[in-house]
Amino acid sequence: MVDVRLSGLDDSVTREEVAAAAATKGGCAAEAVRVGEIRQSNTGMGTVVIKVPITAAKLLVRGRLLVGWVSARVDLLERRALRCYRCLEPGHCRAQCKSGVDRSDHCHRCGKPGHLARDCSAAPHCPICADAGKPAGHKVGSKNCSPPKKKKKGKPAAAGTPAAVPPPQGRGSGEDMDVTGA
Ligand SMILES: [Zn+2]
Ligand SMILES: [Zn+2]
Ligand SMILES: [Zn+2]
Repeated sequence: MVDVRLSGLDDSVTREEVAAAAATKGGCAAEAVRVGEIRQSNTGMGTVVIKVPITAAKLLVRGRLLVGWVSARVDLLERRALRCYRCLEPGHCRAQCKSGVDRSDHCHRCGKPGHLARDCSAAPHCPICADAGKPAGHKVGSKNCSPPKKKKKGKPAAAGTPAAVPPPQGRGSGEDMDVTGA
């Protein structure tokens, strides 16, 4: 399931209509579409985030979606797009940032402070991957970017954690090389 944002909705549109319209264009069942709360902007236009199967999302993002009387703008909200503007790491927004690193004045292209990515002609350099000791010759968040995911076993624990499954030892039946033969 992926998130798709519809914007420019008429204020009379219901969530059921949104689901039906998305299902029709996306070629999926209306039950497969999960519609969030429709929010009205101060211009009277509604915006809603829906969850649809990825196959439906691919169809939906081709052009606009007719919902009720209006054609809504369709934007795919990739998870990758959620990126903190402070530490530049993915998966959270600035308000939720707990990182000790503040890269908010750093260029998203070369990772150096003092200029914006659009003014940058330097070679791409990803500070996130550089800090993680990975290849860093790319922009932050580009498709080559693979910063470390949140590790569950990231504790500097000694070897042999009690939770680890012990390796199977001496199953017995596997040793058929020394079967008594001749
Ligand atoms: Zn952050
Ligand atoms: Zn730069
Ligand atoms: Zn990277």
